[in-house]
Parts: sequence; structure tokens; C-alpha cells
Amino acid sequence: MIHDTKGPGREQPIDALLAAYAAGTLSPPLHRLVAAHLSIRPDNRRFVRMLEESAGNAVENASPAGIHDRDARLASIFSDTAPVRTERPKAAADGVVPAPLAAFIGHDLADLHWKTVLPGIKEYRVCEDERGEASLLWIKPGRIMPAHTHDGSEVTLVLRGGFSDATGHYRRGDIAIADAEVDHRPRADEDDDCICFAVTDAPLRLTGPVGRIVQRLFGSH
Ligand code: ZN
Repeated sequence: MIHDTKGPGREQPIDALLAAYAAGTLSPPLHRLVAAHLSIRPDNRRFVRMLEESAGNAVENASPAGIHDRDARLASIFSDTAPVRTERPKAAADGVVPAPLAAFIGHDLADLHWKTVLPGIKEYRVCEDERGEASLLWIKPGRIMPAHTHDGSEVTLVLRGGFSDATGHYRRGDIAIADAEVDHRPRADEDDDCICFAVTDAPLRLTGPVGRIVQRLFGSH
């Protein structure tokens, strides 16, 4: 069994993301995000490898509808094979940024040009184009992100610490997926700084009075 997600209702979007990763159809930032997740959570690597190895029909089946019986398929895979060796890539020196992301954003977080969005909340824009953007967020313990919605989806990988929102509690290695329906205010855990890598496929829309001010600070949108 793999317990990397938040229970019923949270598994399918992540499985769909992993399937798209296996099929090679993700955008470069999302591809890196999933690779980083897999380097922290080797169990899900087996799932991706299984998708890749399921011969030609893997890609057709790699849709949300095709992997409902994930546990059954995993059970059948593991029942008659030796334990799968998992090679965990070396993390960057700071232990926060996994290798697949370090190659994308650089190893040393302290050297990045962080922009303070609100007291205790910094952002580093990794890349941005008309289809969306990828950012690192560094949130001090207990801080709350401005409320916002998304025109598209936002996929967030926790690299350090953790945060909670209405959809659950996420710790290092967890992926949170927020779609256009979600208006949320993620709150960092009290016990550590929270560092996340977030990929949106459309600009954020900040809501509420603080949000409108921060929207201007965020710049272009
Ligand atoms: Zn969000």
C-alpha cells in the first residue's frame, strides 16, 4: 500500500499527475516537480515504473479513468516479484532541494533573489510564460498565505516543513493540487519554515483586501 496522499478524493489527481509524468506529457516545470516528489517518495517511483513498463498500453491506460484499481495493480505487481530496488538520487547539499529540482533552480536557496511578498512570505519566480509559472515560496512558521483562487490548477510540492489548507495537511514530499474551484489560504506549520515549489498553469487571482494589495506587489497580473 502506498500512503502518500490524503485519503479518498485526493488520490486520483495525484495518480493522474504521475500517469502524465510516465507518459511524458507534463510541462517542464511540472515534470521537474513530479521528479522531485519521486526522489523524496520512492514508493511512488515504483508506481510510475509500473506504468512505464506495462508495455504499449501503459500510456493509453495512464489516464485518471485507467488507474482506479491502483492498489490491486500494485498488489499484483509486488506479489510475484522481488522487492524493487529504489535508487534515491542524492539531494542537494542543503537537504531541502531534491536533485531534479536543484538542476532547475540551483542548489543554494540562500543565493536566490527572493522577493518579499508579505512579512514572513518570500517568493522566487523560477520561470513564467503565458501558460503559467513556477515559483518557490518560503513561508515563516505559522504564516498564512493571502487567500487566492486559480484560473487553472496549482500543483505544490512541499520541500521543507509543512502547511495546511481546507484540503488537508501537507509535509515534505507531499503534493497538493488546487484547482479552479479552490479558494484557499494555506497556513505554514508552526514548527518550521515551509518551503514549497509551486507550478500554476494560469496566473493566481488573489482575493480579499490583503490579496488585492499583494496582487500589485506580485507584479504583472
Ligand atoms: Zn493556491
